[in-house]
Order: sequence, then structure tokens, then C-alpha cells
Amino acid sequence: MNLFKHRRFFTVAAFAVAAILVSGFIATNIYKQQRLANISKNAGPEHKYDKLVTQADLKPLPMSSNGKTVKIPILMYHHIGTAPADSNATRKDLTVSVENFEGQAAWLKTEGYTSILLADVYQYSLGKFTLPQKPVIFTFDDGYADIFQNAIPILDKYGFKGSFAIITQYPSRQQGDNLYASWQDIAKAYDSGQEIISHTQDHFDGSNPKFSADFILKNLTGSVADIKDRLNFTSNILIYPYGHYSANYIKLAKTAGFVMGITVHEGSRINLDNLMEVPRIRVHGNEPLEKFKELILE
Ligand SMILES: [Zn+2]
Repeated sequence: MNLFKHRRFFTVAAFAVAAILVSGFIATNIYKQQRLANISKNAGPEHKYDKLVTQADLKPLPMSSNGKTVKIPILMYHHIGTAPADSNATRKDLTVSVENFEGQAAWLKTEGYTSILLADVYQYSLGKFTLPQKPVIFTFDDGYADIFQNAIPILDKYGFKGSFAIITQYPSRQQGDNLYASWQDIAKAYDSGQEIISHTQDHFDGSNPKFSADFILKNLTGSVADIKDRLNFTSNILIYPYGHYSANYIKLAKTAGFVMGITVHEGSRINLDNLMEVPRIRVHGNEPLEKFKELILE
């Protein structure tokens, strides 16, 4: 009798323990899935940056021997300010502190550099613009609010202008720790002589085969229309999200009216016969000024 009672007790206990373990397992998984869903819902485009930008994207472009080249450092920035404390290495690398940015601008000024716009390079290629002795171009990708708050006052202080690549459906959005500038901020910058250019409507990856030619063309012409709607001007310069493009993508970009395509290929020699593949110089977060000087001077 006692033995029977014990057996029943152990059976019930074993079922109870199993039930607790199973429900715990299910609850943990539901929690994990919810967290993943939240992460992907809030993820800004640049969160995928480290995975999408490859060595091939950064590789210097081959220069055609008969192509007409000109040396113009085109600086690439994303965030100017302080990266949130919990941000990952990519976000930190994309964030240049206000102090460093000011140090870079001050050094360029002292060295006699003059900022020009990307459109000036196109005009130069047509023989309609005279380059200053030491030209430099500031580009800012994605249109983050911190750029408009922190970079423009410094550009103004040193008499520089910049080129701001806008993801035209993102203004005023908050995605993860990325806050995008409002159209009001962008219009104010444009009115004060800053250059506004396209970075597509939604930062889609142009190299992903899932995007049809129809989608690409609609997105690119859509970004031009968005800028036209807000600023009443037709943008004809595109910065490729993630530096990704293909021969077909370039063809579609030209159909959409673009005359210049800006990449993440490293270098400062621009082939004027190939303005759809313009290289840039990436400025990393915490770049020492000495390293920055080397990048400009090399
Ligand atoms: Zn981007």
C-alpha cells in the first residue's frame, strides 16, 4: 500500500516538474521571438552595415589609362555627435565626435581647402566649373538629425558647405537609436546653400536580386519626386546605399535622371569619364587627426 502511494506521488511529481520545464521553455522562446521581432522592427538601415558592406565594395576602382582623372577628396560621414552608450562597434565607427569633426574642418581651413559640391564635379566634367586649388567635398549619408544639429554649425563656422544624402521616405523617423532629420531641417539646410541629394526612398540594397528593374526605377524616380515635392528642385546625384550597385542598376539610375553615382570605393581620384562610380574617403569614428591628414594627402 505504502509503495503504491509513493509511486503515485512520484508519478504526479514527475508530471508537475515536466510541465514546469515545458512551460518555461515555451515562455522563453516566445520572449526570444518577441525580442527578435522588436529588434528587426526597430533596426535602422545602417545596423546591417557591417554585414552588407564588403571588401569588394571598398576596393579602389581601376582607373582607365585614357580616362581624365582629378584628385578631389570626398569625405564620407554618417553621424556627428556621441554614439549611444550601448551602441555596437559599427554604430561607433559611423559616429565622429563633434570635437574630431571640428578638428578636421579647422585643419582643412588652415591648409587652404575650399569645399565644393558634388554638382560642381559634374559641371567641371562639362567644362563649366573651375576647381579651386584645393577642393574638398563633405558628404553625409542617411540624413540623420545629429548631422543637421552638429555638423552644419561647424561647416558654417569654417565657411564650408556639405552634400546631404537623404533617404526620402525616412525624414522624422526614429529607428532604433537612429533619428532622421525632418524635411523642415533639410529645407533649411538647402535654403542656406547646402546640397541635398538622393539616397533612394528607403535605403534598399541595389545589389539584392529580389528587387526587380521596375522596383529599382520606381524607387529612384520616386526619390527624385520626393525631393522635388519638398524642395522644388530636381536632384540628379545618387549615393548608393551600402555602396551597392551593378551595371544594370547604373543603367536604371541614368534612366531615372542621375548623372553621378557615389560609391564607398576608397580613393580620391575621380574618373571624369565615369561619374557613376565616384570613390570616397571614409572618416571613421575616433579617427586621429594625423590619420585624417594622411587620408587627405595620400
Ligand atoms: Zn546609407
